[in-house]
Amino acid sequence: MATKIIRILPRSIGRRSPTIVRHLSTGSAVFQEKEAQPFSSDGHDIVYGPYHLQMQDSLKKIIDKDINPYVDEWEAQRKFPAHRVFKVLGDSGFLGITKPKAYGGLELDYSYSAAMAEALGHINCGGIPMAVGVQTDMATPALAKFGSDYLKREFLAPSISGDLVACIGVSETGAGSDVANIQTKASRKGDDLIINGGKMWITNGTQADWMCCLVNTSEGKPHVNKSLVCLPMNLPGITVAKNIKKIGMWCSDTAQIFFEDVYVPRSHIIGEEGQGFLYQMLQFQEERLFATATCLAPLEKMIAETINYTRERKVFNQPLLNSQIVHFTLAELAAEVELLRSTLYRTIALYVKGQDVTRLASICKLKAGRLVREVSDKCLQFWGGMGYTEDVIVSRLYRDLRLVSIGGGADEVMLSIICKFMNTLPNQRRQ
Ligand SMILES: Cc1cc2nc3c(=O)[nH]c(=O)nc-3n(C[C@H](O)[C@H](O)[C@H](O)COP(=O)(O)OP(=O)(O)OC[C@H]3O[C@@H](n4cnc5c(N)ncnc54)[C@H](O)[C@@H]3O)c2cc1C
Repeated sequence: MATKIIRILPRSIGRRSPTIVRHLSTGSAVFQEKEAQPFSSDGHDIVYGPYHLQMQDSLKKIIDKDINPYVDEWEAQRKFPAHRVFKVLGDSGFLGITKPKAYGGLELDYSYSAAMAEALGHINCGGIPMAVGVQTDMATPALAKFGSDYLKREFLAPSISGDLVACIGVSETGAGSDVANIQTKASRKGDDLIINGGKMWITNGTQADWMCCLVNTSEGKPHVNKSLVCLPMNLPGITVAKNIKKIGMWCSDTAQIFFEDVYVPRSHIIGEEGQGFLYQMLQFQEERLFATATCLAPLEKMIAETINYTRERKVFNQPLLNSQIVHFTLAELAAEVELLRSTLYRTIALYVKGQDVTRLASICKLKAGRLVREVSDKCLQFWGGMGYTEDVIVSRLYRDLRLVSIGGGADEVMLSIICKFMNTLPNQRRQ
């Protein structure tokens, strides 16, 4: 029997279909789907009870029906229909899990948000979980905690119901890691703010109805001169310049946006004027937990798919998985995923108790970013040429999840935060 095989399955291989390779000469399937089960749910009940699991099941059903069948198409179009998808999620309550009931939320604790973020990892790409996270855990936590009733009715309630799409505007062309250095300014004129400047890398930016926008509202010290403002995106003076082309996260739109004399009422400032930097730092905690939680399912999926593939793929007349370097590497990676999950669950449990988890959330985000790079790279290697195609989920996740080490605070920013807690930063020691 000839050993040379080719892949003749449709593009969905490794995403929706079992991995099947056909014999070159006969065209017959040489292997069938075998579900690898390298992970168990032991210990998940540390933070999740039956209601969490029920919620995850409901979300997975929505994903299987309304999202995953279209992901390939949206990836090719470089944009997913945010209003359509968010409405489906909003109608089922998934966009307001921790938000107040008064504005349409479920008012559950953060462990339910984490459970949802984990289930979003079931989506066959990184772009949509990120876009949903922007809506639930990046653009709206400060509004829900500190916003006025008027702002919550105008912006929070319709974002929870999925009628409005939100984006978060922090980064600028000259200020990403160094948030304190943003230059966008809001000067005061009567009861209005006039905003000038621009934002860069804005997820959902070409589709959003409003932006939670960080601006300088005074000349003072950088940590007390900023405010978060609810900015309707249809105001005169706002230009969405372009949908930025990226190496991954293809179905998530990423915009550069300019503001020229944009008038917005001062009543659109979230909470206290001048406290925007602090609110944003608090908002980052949930963003980092969310980012970590959405990585778990893709990490497990990459390992499981690679086990399936290498068990069936014959190299030098034996399954590739029989090579010790392959099965040991996959075991090592699985162990790392378990450690990440444990740290995340510990962090969530403490956060739910009301503790400040800045240090642990930064550790989670750092390790998640590093691990998705390691797992996607090592798994992709074992897929050989197939791993270098667009046809397998491992290659999509390799591209998409590279962002975890950069967005929402790069690895080095996470390390700086951890160092602050360790009191090892040079300028700290001099104090
Ligand atoms: C696809 C995508 C979506 C995004 N979505 C949003 C969004 O919706 N809203 C938003 O506001 N922003 C968004 N961002 C921006 C993202 O948060 C920034 O890219 C990120 O914070 C890094 O900023 P920067 O790109 O300006 O890199 P820079 O700040 O220029 O940093 C470059 C590199 O320097 C290194 N570095 C940083 N700090 C240190 C340090 N202290 N010591 C040593 N090295 C360091 C890091 O490796 C970093 O990657 C998005 C970015 C991308 C690519």
